[in-house]
Amino acid sequence: GASGAAAPRLTRKQWRNKQKNKRRQEKLKAEKNAGGGGGTAQAAPEPSAPAAGPTGRSAALRARMEERLLAARFRYINERLYTGSSRDAVELFQSDPEAFQIYHRGFAQQVGRWPQNPVDRIIQRLRQRSASLVVADFGCGDCKIASSVRNKVHCFDLVPLSPLVTVCDMAEVPLADESVDIAVFCLALMGTNLQEILEEANRVLKQGGTLMVAEVASRFEDLRAFMNAMAQLGFRSVNKDLSSTFFYLLEFTKAGPPRRRPCTGLRLLPCLYKRR
Ligand code: SAH
Repeated sequence: GASGAAAPRLTRKQWRNKQKNKRRQEKLKAEKNAGGGGGTAQAAPEPSAPAAGPTGRSAALRARMEERLLAARFRYINERLYTGSSRDAVELFQSDPEAFQIYHRGFAQQVGRWPQNPVDRIIQRLRQRSASLVVADFGCGDCKIASSVRNKVHCFDLVPLSPLVTVCDMAEVPLADESVDIAVFCLALMGTNLQEILEEANRVLKQGGTLMVAEVASRFEDLRAFMNAMAQLGFRSVNKDLSSTFFYLLEFTKAGPPRRRPCTGLRLLPCLYKRR
């Protein structure tokens, strides 16, 4: 057309990029006017205050810095949980109660990026079984399992995110021997004393009871060695779901008590998160 003669004709791709840049500019302008909140709620400026005053920008900067600090603290706490024993974890959270909130917030953000949350898979599995079976949830977090199934669920964690939690170290839970039908560790095999923790699960499980483990796939350096160690601990593998690239879902039956000897293959790599 004659009207378009002055401007060079753009290819479809160039046109799309131009539109994208225009949208980006508009968004930046809008954010600047709103004090750069980028989606977070900001108090409306006083009518007399300049629209894009330094307070708005420094508040946004402070929010960003706080976010990065929280992320760094999450990575630090997470690393300590994976590289210390479960008793160190008890101490960590006792000495710094805020650490737990920070850890759980970061944990939820991480798992929220995955296509599926393993806890939902475990809930699915539990619903396929009788609701009369007694469950123990080791490292229960926010107790999603207990609030999603009709079974009696004993919830254990270091700090109570929910009133359903019994606060304890999972290496030593207040349950009688052979008192539960299903023991669950959903992303909770954290301490370096894994053998002790799994022996505790064996102790409270009834003979023939089920152990469900969901763990980050990349933690398994040598799955075969891990499965051998589990067999030594009295757990016979009955189901292995390795289909997710994020987590493995393993199911075992308690075949008997642990055979007492060090299980070297039990080692899992710590799950450390990269700085973003
Ligand atoms: N199972 C939950 C939470 C997983 S995060 C879910 O899948 O959503 C791991 C949890 O294990 C955290 O809540 C952490 O506090 C808990 N945990 C770590 N070490 C523990 C220990 N020694 N004793 C009890 N809980 C522990």
